[in-house]
Amino acid sequence: MFESSVIEISKSALQTNLKFLKQKTGAHVKFCSVVKGNAYGHGLTEFVKLAMECDQHYFGVYSADEAYHISKNIKNTPELYIMGMVEGEAIEWAINKGIEFCVFDEKRLEDALKYSKKLKKKAKIHLEIETGMNRTGFYEKEIAIVGELINNNKQNFEVKGACTHFAGAESMANNFRVSQQIGKFYQTLLTIGKAGLTPTYKHAACSAAVINYPETIGNMVRVGIMQYGFWPNDETFIRYNGDKEKNSKILKRLITWKSRLMNLKSVKKGEFIGYSTSYLAHRDMKIAVVPVGYSHGYSRNMSNTGKVLVRGVEATVVGIVNMNAITIDVTHIEGVEIGDEVVLIGTKEQNSKCGFFQ
Ligand SMILES: *Cc1c(COP(=O)(O)O)cnc(C)c1O
Repeated sequence: MFESSVIEISKSALQTNLKFLKQKTGAHVKFCSVVKGNAYGHGLTEFVKLAMECDQHYFGVYSADEAYHISKNIKNTPELYIMGMVEGEAIEWAINKGIEFCVFDEKRLEDALKYSKKLKKKAKIHLEIETGMNRTGFYEKEIAIVGELINNNKQNFEVKGACTHFAGAESMANNFRVSQQIGKFYQTLLTIGKAGLTPTYKHAACSAAVINYPETIGNMVRVGIMQYGFWPNDETFIRYNGDKEKNSKILKRLITWKSRLMNLKSVKKGEFIGYSTSYLAHRDMKIAVVPVGYSHGYSRNMSNTGKVLVRGVEATVVGIVNMNAITIDVTHIEGVEIGDEVVLIGTKEQNSKCGFFQ
């Protein structure tokens, strides 16, 4: 109620993106929809609900608080997998809720065992393998101990997965490193097998790997950025089919961010606009104020450079992005009025004259 801007997320765009991605992976492959970072800014609960409507029922978060947020806000909580941070009582909570989580060191494995015994419930774990990212993961030489601990406590563990994460699958410049990671991953999977462990899913591929290293798709993928309609980077976008024009229609952006014009002003040539002296009117200008600023996530880096759409026409941010407002140059936009809709993120097609408030 009374919000100064709204974010819309498009179900049909999500359907388009999921369809493309699932075609790439194959229908039999377990698809983990990655929703860390507030679903890449799209709104965690809102996105997960929408994705569930699109037949997606397995989600990857980075930390336990994100899993907690989903379980609190969504009635039929989907399958969840914590890929990063979970410790202490959060491990107990996760086991109790049947939430899967990554294990990459002995401490967490022992904690999982402790809480599993306490709850008399299996811990659903994914063993993360260090293959060269040098962030988290067991080294191959640790697998023997891991295997022993798990095998000695079979009633306490369900080994859901063995996984790793690539350090830059989006760029050919990292090809040597990523290829080594792939080799290391398969080699360690063999060691895991020899240790008597049989993880259900073997997974490494993020969005970029699904496209650039399809051989790593295996029986599960963890896809984030592309489901939101973004290619991991330009290189992946151009490399795919080598046809930029065709590729531009494959993925659809889910997000639109809209506000409206709150005020209009005429500013005389030679006057400064906004705080300090960062923008000097070089001619008589008409400027408009939009009630969105860096506190809402409109980056201060957009000062004097950001572009928005009013009546389908581009308008540039003039002056410094304030905490709660930006000023934009609308001198060239015919018929502009207070209340006109402003598209902060989105396309001309999504920019109607009358805003969502009317
Ligand atoms: C973020 C993340 C992903 C998804 O990466 P995208 O490039 O957004 O597809 C997969 N795995 C892990 C461990 C991650 O942290």
